[in-house]
Amino acid sequence: MSRFFSQKYSSLVPYTPGEQPKDTQYIKLNTNESPFSPSKTAQLYATKAAQNLQLYSDPECRELIKLAANRFSVNEDEILFTNGSDEVLNFAFMAFCDKNTPAIFPDITYGFYTVFAQINNIPYKQIPLNDDFTICIDDYKNADGTIFIANPNAPTGIALTVEQIEEIIKSNPDNVVVIDEAYVDFGADSVVPLTKKYDNLLVTQTFSKSRSLAGGRLGFGIGNKKLIQDLNTIKYSTNPYNVNSLTMAAGVGTLIDDEYCMDNCKTIIENREWTVTKLKELGFTMTDSSANFVFAKHHTAHGKDIYLKLKEKGVLVRYFDKEKLYDYNRITIGSKEQMNILIEKIQEVLEELK
Ligand code: PMP
Repeated sequence: MSRFFSQKYSSLVPYTPGEQPKDTQYIKLNTNESPFSPSKTAQLYATKAAQNLQLYSDPECRELIKLAANRFSVNEDEILFTNGSDEVLNFAFMAFCDKNTPAIFPDITYGFYTVFAQINNIPYKQIPLNDDFTICIDDYKNADGTIFIANPNAPTGIALTVEQIEEIIKSNPDNVVVIDEAYVDFGADSVVPLTKKYDNLLVTQTFSKSRSLAGGRLGFGIGNKKLIQDLNTIKYSTNPYNVNSLTMAAGVGTLIDDEYCMDNCKTIIENREWTVTKLKELGFTMTDSSANFVFAKHHTAHGKDIYLKLKEKGVLVRYFDKEKLYDYNRITIGSKEQMNILIEKIQEVLEELK
């Protein structure tokens, strides 16, 4: 830390992203990326957009919003695009929390929530999950702050039903409820339709996982137009051009090829079911995942040993050096070929760890 670093950030603990090694050709199953390339139209549109990079991007993201509003059956003023969904989440912390309105979220969830709270100087309350890693919805009823729930949750992959989320929203008419649907396309039900009914619901989604655009950084929020106006106030006060033109064009192409993306999700779900069966045969137990990853624990081998040995063999999975999570690995579901190699390498690792 330099002697110039602002005192207000001196105790900030930044988010640790998953490893992105460039040295070896790893089978990368550690950051929940898609194994599939972006859609052809996305690639074509981004290439074309490169010819006009001398111009600023459209701060209103008009073309993108028009297509997305149609895709998600909402009005154009009920949606906002951001630089990954991390940005819309950060905007939500900035817009809907303050020292009297804490952020409330599970103790085991997306690790960035605590960082967003800390950097914005927002108090936060972490509610323990049940022992089986499920969320107890009663804990979130009549809350005294802004609620953030990832659905499906990370790193467990466990999803709440629409009815359960509606109960939470209903019991919090004076609190904003943010539902982070980064992984919703892999088997959970979206609560986007509830944004018509409740003015306190903000839903966030991303193009990073189900739409193969992690490197493009494109996310969005859907909610009542007044919530979206608030988020736009934050956006226009920080970076009006938050979505660059290459990404915006890729996003448009991606929505045009929506069927391609949704077909890829079906493949991932099939690969997940296959992987779950194979891992069970090898002595793993897993949470019931509705995401593009599984959260797996072996009955004898330790999570960290499995992670390290798999890395030696060129397969990267995510290990969280954190209480309650020590025994587990979060494994991204990739292509069938990648999953075959994973299972083969895990078999070798388990032999070596015997
Ligand atoms: N929410 C959850 C639960 C996530 O796991 C992630 C991915 N790290 C994000 C949001 C943010 O994703 P992105 O910024 O790529 O849209």
